[in-house]
Amino acid sequence: MNQIIRCINCDEIYLKTPFDQWPEYETHPSPSPDNFRIHERDDFQDFLNHHRGHRLEDLKILEDSFISEKPYSEPIKASYFKATNGKERFVIKKFRKGIDEPLKYQLIARDYSLKCTAIEIQSKEIKKQLEMEFKSRPFSQTQIAALLKLYQHIAENIDIKKLERTPEESHNPSEVYYKMDDTSLVYLLRNCHNIFKGKEYLDIEEFIHRHKDDGVLLLKATYKIQFIEKYKSKKKADSVPIALERKKAVENREA
Ligand SMILES: [Zn+2]
Repeated sequence: MNQIIRCINCDEIYLKTPFDQWPEYETHPSPSPDNFRIHERDDFQDFLNHHRGHRLEDLKILEDSFISEKPYSEPIKASYFKATNGKERFVIKKFRKGIDEPLKYQLIARDYSLKCTAIEIQSKEIKKQLEMEFKSRPFSQTQIAALLKLYQHIAENIDIKKLERTPEESHNPSEVYYKMDDTSLVYLLRNCHNIFKGKEYLDIEEFIHRHKDDGVLLLKATYKIQFIEKYKSKKKADSVPIALERKKAVENREA
């Protein structure tokens, strides 16, 4: 279990057992677990020595708060997660500067929320799947292009908040897969009548039903981290007296 210790005096943190398998797997071939444990104990002792006489508190990690804009497998990146002391919430940045550098954890004075920046269809995958499933009686490239254009149009106008998230494993924490909603499904099928006729329509209808819940028809949403200033910056507080002084100056001039 990870344990985060915060020095209240210095606003610094120490994460015990950072190589635990949370919040993501660390594929680190070395150092060996034994070496690491010794190394970790020394590091922790250093932290305690450095903050001797200071007030320390334990923080609890908030589940599901982990976010990064890079894939899980990317070793050099910044990720963020939140933790609490029961009263206040903290944002922790986790990063590594070089491939050989250890992970670092740092408290940052900003909060974050996630903003959906794009909803995309899996064009390449849909095309490949269609060509594979209908090898003997393929659809024309014009038909496939028209279908992709139609579905992309639906995706662009969809309300992401109404969609059901799928448990589909993503390699990137900022990419989430969703099923299309029933209204979109009806719209898609109805408009497919303009592209596919007779038996071809029945084929495409079946294809859509087959792949809408867990296949190539899932919609991919991309999220971006949006930072919000958490603490009022000192500058803002300082600007008040300056403004007052200026006002006084104006008044003096007017007088
Ligand atoms: Zn301290």
